[in-house]
Amino acid sequence: MSESSPVSSKANPSAALDSLRIELDSLDGSLLESLAQRRELSRRIAEHKSKATGPARDQEREARVLADRVRAGRALGLDAHFVTRVFHAVIEDSLRVQHDQLSAEQAGTQRTSLRLCGLGSQGSYSHAAAERHFSRQTTGWSYAGCNSLRRIFEQVARGEAEQGVAPIENTITGSINEAYDLLLEHGLSIVGEERMPIRHCLLGLQGADRSQLRLLHAHPQALAQCRHFVDALAGCQVQYATSASDAVQAIAGDKRAAAIASAEAAAHFGVEVLVENIADQRDNYTRFIFVARRPLPVPKQLPCKTSLVISTAQKPASLVQALLVFRKHGINLAKLESRPIPGNAWEEMFYLDLDGNPAADSVGQALEELSKVTRFVRFLGSYASSDLPPTTLQPAVLATAEVSSAATIADTPPGPTSAHKPTSKRKSSAYRLASREHKQQDTVLSAAGVEIGGPDFVVIAGPCAVETREQVMTCARHAREHGVAILRGGCFKPRTSPYSFQGLGLEGLDYLAEAGKTYGMPIVTEVMDTHQVEAVARQADILQVGARNMQNFSLLRAVGQVHRPVMLKRGLMASIDELLQAAEYILSQGNQQVFLCERGIRTFETSTRNTLDLSAVPILQERTHLPVIIDPSHAVGRRDLVPPLARAAQAVGAHGVMVEFHPRPEEALSDGPQALRFPQLAALMRDLYRDRPAPVTPSQTSQAT
Ligand code: PEP
Ligand code: MN
Repeated sequence: MSESSPVSSKANPSAALDSLRIELDSLDGSLLESLAQRRELSRRIAEHKSKATGPARDQEREARVLADRVRAGRALGLDAHFVTRVFHAVIEDSLRVQHDQLSAEQAGTQRTSLRLCGLGSQGSYSHAAAERHFSRQTTGWSYAGCNSLRRIFEQVARGEAEQGVAPIENTITGSINEAYDLLLEHGLSIVGEERMPIRHCLLGLQGADRSQLRLLHAHPQALAQCRHFVDALAGCQVQYATSASDAVQAIAGDKRAAAIASAEAAAHFGVEVLVENIADQRDNYTRFIFVARRPLPVPKQLPCKTSLVISTAQKPASLVQALLVFRKHGINLAKLESRPIPGNAWEEMFYLDLDGNPAADSVGQALEELSKVTRFVRFLGSYASSDLPPTTLQPAVLATAEVSSAATIADTPPGPTSAHKPTSKRKSSAYRLASREHKQQDTVLSAAGVEIGGPDFVVIAGPCAVETREQVMTCARHAREHGVAILRGGCFKPRTSPYSFQGLGLEGLDYLAEAGKTYGMPIVTEVMDTHQVEAVARQADILQVGARNMQNFSLLRAVGQVHRPVMLKRGLMASIDELLQAAEYILSQGNQQVFLCERGIRTFETSTRNTLDLSAVPILQERTHLPVIIDPSHAVGRRDLVPPLARAAQAVGAHGVMVEFHPRPEEALSDGPQALRFPQLAALMRDLYRDRPAPVTPSQTSQAT
């Protein structure tokens, strides 16, 4: 080949690839520049917000920004899920930048450097929490590792460090009592918080063989969070470490030793991750607090939390009296924790976290009134809340191709419940808890942030059965793109014939959970047996009790004991009152998060798979406060009839529908004839949300949050 020949992709494919990669690098460079510019704009906006008194966060505007970006993205061929994910991250960054800036302004003189201490050195979770907390701040910080919580509090109390960072609670193991006790003992104040996802891994030296391990180094908290995994590590002795970083350092030179710490710690210390994600629950979070000698004021524009400790007289209702003060002032209590009072056997004090800023009138007044009805009250500090939940996009934005520009919140039609005010005067002894007499107000459930029974019409959709990972991921992506709120998929299938496909079981549930996580949708799946309840509840956001199990009383009792919403389907031969009595079984066990699903009943009519009892919706709403949805798919068994009946469900006032769809219905392993095709689901979503415009006003002049 001559040296001067032009580079063509055919002649030299690798040169063509290189040139595409160069183009990609340059595009990424511009993206980064844009992100930096956007951050700068956010900072400038914060300067304006600091002069205003209203909250810095404006979720209505965020919803408009998201809707605008989704529309603009679609015009460029980008899917809504991708655009939403990117902008959730971008908006969160803006919010945190602005919050940090407002806090720094409030603190007055900018510190040039802050001395911080925490549990363990770099590579520990406390260090990671500090890094996250200070990453956007202009203040520099130095960090000193301590080998006990006590040491951290002592250093701050003596002024050897300006702030200390300490874990205070974990979502698996609960409160870290020692941190609470030390806080009070040293008279320190909470000045910040950080909620961190914790991903424990098993770390070892390069070439370590998992089956040969004989020593496990870990902090007791990490061990408690990884109980199942540690119990299964036969023949391995446990050695307590003072922190995760300490644990990793302890394995030096020993190929038969392992440690529990993060993947970041592995990278920092140059060791290997032997097993990832070993905690008992997939979602594991620790809340860290930042403590200082003096409290710091929080700008009024920021969402603020306040912590207190109180003790009340040892008299009946004295705690209630204290709590009534919060009710009177409309203050939300985020946490209430009791601890023994040192030296006073069987007497308790209470730690409280509330949403609010003492600089605002109502919280300040509440604190004052509290002192009149308690024996002891101490303000532990106020701090900007680290919890900034993303603004969710209304299904209507996704479902309808065009969002009406005239739509405003005031235009949103009233929710389905308002059409059916409770009127029943029936005495229903067979179902007391489910009855309207027991509870006049509609129950509104929440499944991973999606409300069922509230004003928004909810669509649950997915394949009848989870068949492959690829199938459920494809369905989830399509569902999400068109505004479906909740993803369904059967893993344990109740089939009339034992020779039919019975479902993939827990393997299918792994796929469904992955799809739900990837596309940000709660998942619902059926439990058929009491033995499955615990494992399914660990992964599914909603448990389904199918029509054939509506009167499986042991199963109803079992799902009544878990902390997950339950979707109870009406039995094929069950009356409305029998459905309510079945719901009562669940409620009577403690679980009040139940909603009902009318899915067709057996009649003499054979033209459809079952007969959809639409009138069950208003009748149920008369008799019960529980939400009611309709499943037209199983009712009719024919895909062409599903969309009109879903619209009828909406018209009759159901709180939502559940429909089945499939990428290739002809190949479906169950219920193919009733599965909507992908375009049919998209069209149905448009129809269902056409008259329910998004409660946002698309703006021509939208800019960074
Ligand atoms: C289902 O929804 O997957 C199902 C099996 O429905 P049903 O129990 O109503 O038949
Ligand atoms: Mn089905």
